[in-house]
Amino acid sequence: MLSIAINRAKVLKPKPPQDKLGFGNYFTDHMFEMDYTEGRGWHDARIVPFGPISISPAAMVLHYAQETFEGMKAYRTSEGKIQFFRPLENIRRLNKSNKRICIPEIDENDFMDALRAVVNIDKDWVPSAEGTSLYIRPFTIATDEHLGVRASKTYKFYIILSPVGAYYPEGINPVKIFVETEDVRAVRGGTGFAKVGANYSATIRAQHRAEDKGYTQVLWLDGVERRYIEEVGTMNVFFKIGDEVVTPPLEGSILPGITRMSCIEALKSWGVKVSERRLSIDELFDAARSGRLSEAFGSGTAAVISPIGELDWDGERIAISGGKIGELTHKLYDFITGIQWGKIKDEFNWIMPL
Ligand SMILES: *Cc1c(COP(=O)(O)O)cnc(C)c1O
Repeated sequence: MLSIAINRAKVLKPKPPQDKLGFGNYFTDHMFEMDYTEGRGWHDARIVPFGPISISPAAMVLHYAQETFEGMKAYRTSEGKIQFFRPLENIRRLNKSNKRICIPEIDENDFMDALRAVVNIDKDWVPSAEGTSLYIRPFTIATDEHLGVRASKTYKFYIILSPVGAYYPEGINPVKIFVETEDVRAVRGGTGFAKVGANYSATIRAQHRAEDKGYTQVLWLDGVERRYIEEVGTMNVFFKIGDEVVTPPLEGSILPGITRMSCIEALKSWGVKVSERRLSIDELFDAARSGRLSEAFGSGTAAVISPIGELDWDGERIAISGGKIGELTHKLYDFITGIQWGKIKDEFNWIMPL
Protein backbone atom coordinates (compact mmCIF):
# COMPACT_ATOMS: atom_id res chain seq x y z
CA MET A 1 0.00 0.00 0.00
CA LEU A 2 1.18 3.48 -0.85
CA SER A 3 1.45 5.54 2.32
CA ILE A 4 -0.48 8.77 1.76
CA ALA A 5 -0.41 11.74 4.17
CA ILE A 6 -3.75 13.50 4.44
CA ASN A 7 -4.25 17.22 5.00
CA ARG A 8 -7.99 17.83 4.98
CA ALA A 9 -9.52 21.04 3.69
CA LYS A 10 -10.72 23.19 6.64
CA VAL A 11 -13.66 24.57 4.73
CA LEU A 12 -15.59 22.45 2.23
CA LYS A 13 -16.95 24.13 -0.89
CA PRO A 14 -20.66 24.15 -1.72
CA LYS A 15 -21.49 21.62 -4.44
CA PRO A 16 -22.76 23.06 -7.73
CA PRO A 17 -26.27 22.09 -8.96
CA GLN A 18 -26.08 18.84 -10.95
CA ASP A 19 -27.90 20.28 -13.95
CA LYS A 20 -25.38 23.12 -14.29
CA LEU A 21 -22.11 21.16 -14.20
CA GLY A 22 -20.99 21.24 -17.85
CA PHE A 23 -17.49 19.90 -18.46
CA GLY A 24 -14.39 20.76 -16.43
CA ASN A 25 -15.81 23.81 -14.65
CA TYR A 26 -15.83 22.71 -11.02
CA PHE A 27 -13.22 21.02 -8.87
CA THR A 28 -13.58 19.05 -5.65
CA ASP A 29 -12.17 19.87 -2.19
CA HIS A 30 -8.95 17.85 -2.43
CA MET A 31 -6.23 16.73 -4.82
CA PHE A 32 -3.49 14.11 -4.81
CA GLU A 33 0.13 15.27 -5.07
CA MET A 34 3.46 13.43 -5.21
CA ASP A 35 7.05 14.49 -6.00
CA TYR A 36 9.88 12.95 -7.97
CA THR A 37 13.53 13.65 -7.43
CA GLU A 38 16.36 11.94 -9.25
CA GLY A 39 17.85 9.27 -7.01
CA ARG A 40 14.86 9.17 -4.65
CA GLY A 41 12.14 8.30 -7.12
CA TRP A 42 8.51 9.21 -6.47
CA HIS A 43 7.94 10.22 -2.86
CA ASP A 44 5.81 12.21 -0.40
CA ALA A 45 2.43 10.99 -1.60
CA ARG A 46 -0.20 13.25 -0.06
CA ILE A 47 -3.76 14.47 -0.33
CA VAL A 48 -4.06 18.23 0.15
CA PRO A 49 -6.81 20.84 -0.28
CA PHE A 50 -7.42 21.66 -3.97
CA GLY A 51 -5.77 24.97 -4.76
CA PRO A 52 -3.01 26.86 -6.58
CA ILE A 53 0.40 25.23 -6.85
CA SER A 54 3.73 26.97 -6.62
CA ILE A 55 6.43 26.35 -9.24
CA SER A 56 9.31 28.45 -10.55
CA PRO A 57 8.61 30.66 -13.60
CA ALA A 58 11.58 28.79 -15.07
CA ALA A 59 9.95 25.38 -14.42
CA MET A 60 10.68 23.35 -17.54
CA VAL A 61 7.06 22.35 -18.15
CA LEU A 62 6.19 26.00 -18.83
CA HIS A 63 8.77 26.31 -21.60
CA TYR A 64 9.10 22.94 -23.31
CA ALA A 65 5.79 21.26 -22.41
CA GLN A 66 7.21 18.18 -20.71
CA GLU A 67 3.74 17.19 -19.47
CA THR A 68 1.49 14.13 -19.70
CA PHE A 69 -2.11 13.61 -18.62
CA GLU A 70 -4.99 11.16 -18.48
CA GLY A 71 -8.76 11.47 -18.64
CA MET A 72 -11.01 8.92 -16.94
CA LYS A 73 -14.22 8.79 -14.94
CA ALA A 74 -15.86 7.45 -11.79
CA TYR A 75 -19.58 6.69 -12.05
CA ARG A 76 -22.31 6.48 -9.41
CA THR A 77 -24.68 3.55 -9.89
CA SER A 78 -28.40 3.70 -9.08
CA GLU A 79 -27.62 1.88 -5.79
CA GLY A 80 -25.28 4.74 -4.90
CA LYS A 81 -22.04 2.77 -5.35
CA ILE A 82 -19.04 4.36 -7.07
CA GLN A 83 -17.10 2.56 -9.80
CA PHE A 84 -14.23 3.08 -12.24
CA PHE A 85 -14.18 2.01 -15.91
CA ARG A 86 -10.98 0.16 -16.91
CA PRO A 87 -8.71 2.34 -14.70
CA LEU A 88 -5.63 0.15 -15.20
CA GLU A 89 -5.73 0.98 -18.91
CA ASN A 90 -5.43 4.69 -18.10
CA ILE A 91 -2.62 4.02 -15.64
CA ARG A 92 -0.67 2.04 -18.23
CA ARG A 93 -1.30 4.63 -20.90
CA LEU A 94 0.02 7.45 -18.70
CA ASN A 95 3.20 5.46 -18.24
CA LYS A 96 3.50 4.96 -22.00
CA SER A 97 3.07 8.70 -22.50
CA ASN A 98 5.67 9.35 -19.78
CA LYS A 99 8.12 7.02 -21.46
CA ARG A 100 7.74 8.86 -24.78
CA ILE A 101 8.76 12.21 -23.31
CA CYS A 102 11.28 10.91 -20.74
CA ILE A 103 9.20 11.34 -17.58
CA PRO A 104 9.80 8.61 -14.97
CA GLU A 105 7.02 6.02 -14.81
CA ILE A 106 4.74 5.65 -11.80
CA ASP A 107 4.22 2.29 -10.09
CA GLU A 108 0.82 0.95 -11.23
CA ASN A 109 -0.23 -0.13 -7.73
CA ASP A 110 0.78 3.22 -6.20
CA PHE A 111 -1.19 5.03 -8.90
CA MET A 112 -4.28 2.89 -8.22
CA ASP A 113 -3.95 3.47 -4.44
CA ALA A 114 -3.72 7.23 -5.07
CA LEU A 115 -6.76 7.15 -7.34
CA ARG A 116 -8.88 5.28 -4.81
CA ALA A 117 -7.76 7.48 -1.93
CA VAL A 118 -8.49 10.81 -3.59
CA VAL A 119 -11.86 9.73 -5.04
CA ASN A 120 -12.77 8.27 -1.66
CA ILE A 121 -12.04 11.46 0.27
CA ASP A 122 -14.21 13.46 -2.17
CA LYS A 123 -16.79 10.73 -2.85
CA ASP A 124 -19.69 13.05 -1.99
CA TRP A 125 -18.71 14.97 -5.13
CA VAL A 126 -19.53 12.06 -7.44
CA PRO A 127 -22.86 13.27 -8.86
CA SER A 128 -25.90 11.02 -9.09
CA ALA A 129 -28.15 12.65 -11.72
CA GLU A 130 -28.68 10.73 -14.98
CA GLY A 131 -25.61 10.94 -17.25
CA THR A 132 -23.36 12.75 -14.76
CA SER A 133 -19.98 11.48 -13.54
CA LEU A 134 -16.74 12.47 -11.81
CA TYR A 135 -14.05 13.28 -14.38
CA ILE A 136 -10.56 12.38 -13.15
CA ARG A 137 -7.51 14.20 -14.47
CA PRO A 138 -4.12 12.74 -13.45
CA PHE A 139 -1.12 14.68 -14.82
CA THR A 140 2.66 14.92 -14.54
CA ILE A 141 4.77 18.08 -14.92
CA ALA A 142 8.51 18.80 -15.18
CA THR A 143 9.55 21.21 -12.43
CA ASP A 144 13.32 21.77 -12.75
CA GLU A 145 14.19 25.49 -12.64
CA HIS A 146 16.20 25.41 -15.85
CA LEU A 147 16.04 26.73 -19.41
CA GLY A 148 18.20 24.29 -21.37
CA VAL A 149 16.30 21.67 -23.36
CA ARG A 150 16.76 18.34 -21.57
CA ALA A 151 14.74 16.00 -19.37
CA SER A 152 13.88 17.49 -16.00
CA LYS A 153 15.29 15.79 -12.89
CA THR A 154 12.28 16.72 -10.75
CA TYR A 155 8.55 16.23 -11.42
CA LYS A 156 5.21 16.54 -9.75
CA PHE A 157 2.25 14.21 -10.23
CA TYR A 158 -1.30 15.32 -9.43
CA ILE A 159 -4.79 13.92 -9.58
CA ILE A 160 -7.58 16.48 -9.68
CA LEU A 161 -11.31 15.73 -9.83
CA SER A 162 -14.17 17.50 -11.57
CA PRO A 163 -17.87 16.60 -11.42
CA VAL A 164 -19.23 16.75 -14.98
CA GLY A 165 -22.73 16.97 -16.40
CA ALA A 166 -24.60 14.75 -18.82
CA TYR A 167 -22.98 15.01 -22.26
CA TYR A 168 -26.34 14.72 -24.00
CA PRO A 169 -28.90 16.42 -21.72
CA GLU A 170 -31.34 16.66 -24.66
CA GLY A 171 -30.67 13.24 -26.22
CA ILE A 172 -27.86 12.27 -28.59
CA ASN A 173 -27.61 14.57 -31.58
CA PRO A 174 -25.29 13.76 -34.48
CA VAL A 175 -22.58 16.37 -35.11
CA LYS A 176 -21.39 18.09 -38.29
CA ILE A 177 -17.71 17.51 -39.06
CA PHE A 178 -15.30 19.51 -41.24
CA VAL A 179 -12.46 17.58 -42.91
CA GLU A 180 -9.28 19.56 -42.14
CA THR A 181 -6.88 19.65 -45.09
CA GLU A 182 -4.29 22.24 -43.93
CA ASP A 183 -3.29 21.67 -40.32
CA VAL A 184 -2.34 18.24 -38.99
CA ARG A 185 -2.56 16.89 -35.45
CA ALA A 186 0.29 14.40 -35.36
CA VAL A 187 2.83 12.48 -37.42
CA ARG A 188 4.27 9.01 -37.03
CA GLY A 189 7.46 9.28 -35.02
CA GLY A 190 5.99 12.20 -33.09
CA THR A 191 3.78 12.13 -30.00
CA GLY A 192 0.31 11.47 -31.45
CA PHE A 193 -0.05 8.18 -29.57
CA ALA A 194 0.79 9.84 -26.24
CA LYS A 195 -1.54 11.99 -24.12
CA VAL A 196 0.82 14.95 -23.86
CA GLY A 197 -0.38 18.53 -23.48
CA ALA A 198 1.86 19.61 -26.35
CA ASN A 199 -0.41 17.83 -28.86
CA TYR A 200 -3.46 19.96 -28.18
CA SER A 201 -2.56 23.63 -28.62
CA ALA A 202 -1.74 23.02 -32.30
CA THR A 203 -5.31 21.80 -32.90
CA ILE A 204 -7.16 24.87 -31.64
CA ARG A 205 -6.79 26.95 -34.82
CA ALA A 206 -8.43 24.32 -37.03
CA GLN A 207 -11.14 23.84 -34.42
CA HIS A 208 -11.90 27.61 -34.54
CA ARG A 209 -12.05 27.61 -38.34
CA ALA A 210 -14.48 24.67 -38.30
CA GLU A 211 -16.66 26.36 -35.66
CA ASP A 212 -16.74 29.60 -37.67
CA LYS A 213 -18.15 27.61 -40.59
CA GLY A 214 -20.82 26.02 -38.41
CA TYR A 215 -19.15 22.66 -37.68
CA THR A 216 -18.65 21.03 -34.29
CA GLN A 217 -15.30 19.31 -34.83
CA VAL A 218 -12.65 18.56 -37.42
CA LEU A 219 -11.73 15.24 -38.99
CA TRP A 220 -7.93 14.89 -38.96
CA LEU A 221 -6.03 13.42 -41.91
CA ASP A 222 -2.54 11.92 -41.65
CA GLY A 223 0.34 14.39 -41.58
CA VAL A 224 2.38 12.89 -44.44
CA GLU A 225 0.04 12.10 -47.34
CA ARG A 226 -2.94 14.12 -46.04
CA ARG A 227 -5.18 11.29 -47.24
CA TYR A 228 -5.72 8.79 -44.47
CA ILE A 229 -8.28 9.40 -41.75
CA GLU A 230 -6.89 9.56 -38.23
CA GLU A 231 -9.23 10.98 -35.57
CA VAL A 232 -12.16 13.32 -35.08
CA GLY A 233 -11.46 16.26 -32.72
CA THR A 234 -10.08 14.56 -29.59
CA MET A 235 -11.87 11.29 -30.29
CA ASN A 236 -11.13 8.10 -32.19
CA VAL A 237 -13.34 7.49 -35.20
CA PHE A 238 -15.34 4.58 -36.65
CA PHE A 239 -17.22 4.14 -39.95
CA LYS A 240 -19.68 1.43 -40.97
CA ILE A 241 -19.13 0.67 -44.66
CA GLY A 242 -21.25 -2.18 -46.00
CA ASP A 243 -21.14 -4.77 -43.22
CA GLU A 244 -17.63 -3.83 -42.09
CA VAL A 245 -16.82 -1.41 -39.27
CA VAL A 246 -13.55 0.40 -40.03
CA THR A 247 -11.31 2.34 -37.64
CA PRO A 248 -7.79 3.63 -38.37
CA PRO A 249 -4.92 1.43 -37.08
CA LEU A 250 -2.64 2.45 -34.21
CA GLU A 251 0.56 3.28 -36.08
CA GLY A 252 1.98 6.00 -33.85
CA SER A 253 0.00 9.11 -34.75
CA ILE A 254 -3.32 8.03 -33.23
CA LEU A 255 -4.22 8.07 -29.54
CA PRO A 256 -5.05 4.51 -28.40
CA GLY A 257 -8.43 5.29 -26.86
CA ILE A 258 -9.82 3.07 -24.15
CA THR A 259 -13.32 3.72 -25.47
CA ARG A 260 -12.01 2.72 -28.94
CA MET A 261 -10.66 -0.54 -27.52
CA SER A 262 -13.98 -1.19 -25.73
CA CYS A 263 -16.00 -0.53 -28.92
CA ILE A 264 -13.83 -3.00 -30.86
CA GLU A 265 -14.19 -5.68 -28.16
CA ALA A 266 -17.97 -5.19 -27.92
CA LEU A 267 -18.49 -5.20 -31.71
CA LYS A 268 -16.40 -8.35 -32.13
CA SER A 269 -18.34 -10.10 -29.36
CA TRP A 270 -21.54 -9.36 -31.30
CA GLY A 271 -20.07 -10.97 -34.41
CA VAL A 272 -19.61 -7.66 -36.26
CA LYS A 273 -16.64 -7.51 -38.65
CA VAL A 274 -14.23 -4.84 -37.35
CA SER A 275 -11.16 -3.82 -39.35
CA GLU A 276 -8.34 -1.71 -37.98
CA ARG A 277 -7.04 -0.52 -41.31
CA ARG A 278 -6.09 2.56 -43.25
CA LEU A 279 -9.06 4.38 -44.70
CA SER A 280 -8.48 7.24 -47.11
CA ILE A 281 -10.80 10.20 -47.37
CA ASP A 282 -11.34 9.31 -51.06
CA GLU A 283 -12.46 5.78 -50.14
CA LEU A 284 -14.78 7.17 -47.47
CA PHE A 285 -16.43 9.66 -49.82
CA ASP A 286 -16.71 7.00 -52.57
CA ALA A 287 -18.49 4.75 -50.07
CA ALA A 288 -20.81 7.61 -49.14
CA ARG A 289 -21.59 8.41 -52.80
CA SER A 290 -22.43 4.78 -53.55
CA GLY A 291 -24.61 4.47 -50.44
CA ARG A 292 -22.36 2.00 -48.60
CA LEU A 293 -21.41 4.36 -45.75
CA SER A 294 -24.25 3.87 -43.27
CA GLU A 295 -22.88 5.01 -39.88
CA ALA A 296 -20.05 7.08 -38.40
CA PHE A 297 -19.13 8.01 -34.85
CA GLY A 298 -16.36 9.30 -32.61
CA SER A 299 -15.37 7.57 -29.35
CA GLY A 300 -13.83 9.01 -26.18
CA THR A 301 -14.28 9.16 -22.41
CA ALA A 302 -16.12 12.50 -22.35
CA ALA A 303 -18.97 11.71 -24.79
CA VAL A 304 -18.43 7.91 -24.94
CA ILE A 305 -19.98 7.79 -28.44
CA SER A 306 -20.60 10.83 -30.62
CA PRO A 307 -22.53 10.10 -33.82
CA ILE A 308 -21.49 11.95 -36.98
CA GLY A 309 -24.39 13.18 -39.12
CA GLU A 310 -22.56 15.17 -41.78
CA LEU A 311 -19.08 15.50 -43.29
CA ASP A 312 -17.73 18.37 -45.40
CA TRP A 313 -14.61 17.74 -47.48
CA ASP A 314 -13.48 20.61 -49.70
CA GLY A 315 -17.05 21.79 -50.16
CA GLU A 316 -18.59 18.38 -50.84
CA ARG A 317 -21.09 17.52 -48.15
CA ILE A 318 -22.37 14.08 -47.31
CA ALA A 319 -25.13 13.19 -44.85
CA ILE A 320 -24.74 9.96 -42.87
CA SER A 321 -27.69 7.90 -41.54
CA GLY A 322 -29.97 10.70 -42.74
CA GLY A 323 -28.42 12.95 -40.07
CA LYS A 324 -29.70 10.59 -37.34
CA ILE A 325 -27.85 8.22 -35.02
CA GLY A 326 -27.12 4.86 -36.67
CA GLU A 327 -28.52 1.63 -35.25
CA LEU A 328 -25.18 0.03 -34.36
CA THR A 329 -23.86 3.35 -33.01
CA HIS A 330 -26.88 3.56 -30.70
CA LYS A 331 -26.45 -0.05 -29.56
CA LEU A 332 -22.79 0.61 -28.67
CA TYR A 333 -23.68 3.78 -26.77
CA ASP A 334 -26.36 1.98 -24.74
CA PHE A 335 -24.04 -0.96 -24.08
CA ILE A 336 -20.95 0.93 -22.92
CA THR A 337 -22.81 3.56 -20.88
CA GLY A 338 -25.00 0.76 -19.45
CA ILE A 339 -21.89 -0.95 -18.08
CA GLN A 340 -20.37 2.32 -16.85
CA TRP A 341 -23.42 3.26 -14.77
CA GLY A 342 -24.02 -0.33 -13.64
CA LYS A 343 -27.28 -0.89 -15.55
CA ILE A 344 -25.93 -3.79 -17.63
CA LYS A 345 -24.06 -6.90 -16.46
CA ASP A 346 -20.31 -6.36 -16.87
CA GLU A 347 -19.36 -9.53 -18.77
CA PHE A 348 -16.06 -8.01 -19.90
CA ASN A 349 -14.76 -7.22 -16.41
CA TRP A 350 -14.37 -3.55 -17.27
CA ILE A 351 -15.64 -2.24 -13.96
CA MET A 352 -13.59 -1.77 -10.78
CA PRO A 353 -15.53 -0.73 -7.66
CA LEU A 354 -14.08 2.11 -5.58
C1 LIG B 1 -8.10 10.99 -24.90
C2 LIG B 1 -8.17 10.98 -26.38
C3 LIG B 1 -8.95 10.05 -27.10
C4 LIG B 1 -9.92 9.09 -26.45
O1 LIG B 1 -9.36 8.23 -25.52
P1 LIG B 1 -10.29 7.53 -24.45
O2 LIG B 1 -9.35 6.69 -23.65
O3 LIG B 1 -11.30 6.74 -25.17
O4 LIG B 1 -10.91 8.64 -23.64
C5 LIG B 1 -8.86 10.05 -28.49
N1 LIG B 1 -8.09 10.94 -29.14
C6 LIG B 1 -7.36 11.86 -28.49
C7 LIG B 1 -6.52 12.79 -29.28
C8 LIG B 1 -7.38 11.92 -27.10
O5 LIG B 1 -6.67 12.85 -26.46
